[in-house]
Amino acid sequence: MWTEGIALHLGMFLILFSVALVGVNTGGEYYERHLTIMLFVAVTAIIIFPIPLEWSMAIGAFALGLYLVFQMQNPEIAAGNALAGALFFASGVVATVVARRTAGILAHKTFLLELRDRSRLAELTDANSRLELLARTDPLTGIANRRWMMETLNRVWSDGIAQAQGAAILMCDIDHFKQLNDSLGHAEGDRCLVKVAGIIQSSMRDDRDQVARYGGEEFLVLLRDADEEDGVAVAERIRRRVEAASLPNPRSTVGAYVTVSIGLAVLKHGSEAVSSEALQRQADEALYEAKKNGRNQVILHVPVSKSAST
Ligand code: GH3
Ligand code: MG
Ligand code: MG
Repeated sequence: MWTEGIALHLGMFLILFSVALVGVNTGGEYYERHLTIMLFVAVTAIIIFPIPLEWSMAIGAFALGLYLVFQMQNPEIAAGNALAGALFFASGVVATVVARRTAGILAHKTFLLELRDRSRLAELTDANSRLELLARTDPLTGIANRRWMMETLNRVWSDGIAQAQGAAILMCDIDHFKQLNDSLGHAEGDRCLVKVAGIIQSSMRDDRDQVARYGGEEFLVLLRDADEEDGVAVAERIRRRVEAASLPNPRSTVGAYVTVSIGLAVLKHGSEAVSSEALQRQADEALYEAKKNGRNQVILHVPVSKSAST
């Protein structure tokens, strides 16, 4: 930067000096004309190059100095006139420097404003995605909420994914959860919900499976690209792992620990279309059966026509 400044000043000085010298040596009417051209070159340089204020001032001072020195020696002009001319051009040079500086400040401000707008936009986008995440998350367990699951079910069915690949719905409900709350307190109940949510989440196959907290102590699991065997395997894994976690539920009629009952309904791929609502209802019916049969078990919903024929 420092050497660059020196080089620029030296270069400018040489250019200005040579322009002036040509006129001075030619003499006559060219004497003054070339000095004016030299000032014009200086002013143009100040306008065109994006240089700092001090450099613009230095170039202006060079040019005016040269103008004054040579005009004082101009045999055709009185010293007073030479000085007046220099003052006149000095006001022009100062005006140019000031204008250049103002334009620079404006450009700088515009740049800063643009930067601020961009960072505001980034902040807004960030806040927006955080809001979206909050809107689809259950605050207690951190898994997806019912709203998100309803949207997902609608999408999977309207895209035809469920019908094409087959799908299963698991309704998981904690057994005698009311007793847990009553015996160990609501806070312990909340901790149990968090743990069960974690167990369900860790029991899924991969990202084809999704879980949401559906109600108080009820979780809905959606399996895409799944048949009865997949559905039963995942449901059994959840049931077994919850039981094995040995979370206390002293007043449960099933045993001393927390258990879950699971109703399972499967849409076979390529079979007659069943809506997501109907599949949920079937899973609910199977869950009801599991509760009735003594809890801590998985029941697969069997379509009426099939059960009648077998
Ligand atoms: P069942 O085996 O038939 O499912 O019996 P249950 O006691 O689990 O079912 P019930 O529907 O009678 O009771 C559910 C209880 O879950 C009642 C409600 O107070 C409790 N509950 C719902 N949401 C929450 C919650 O966020 N935290 C806690 N601690 N309890 C909740
Ligand atoms: Mg329930
Ligand atoms: Mg329950």
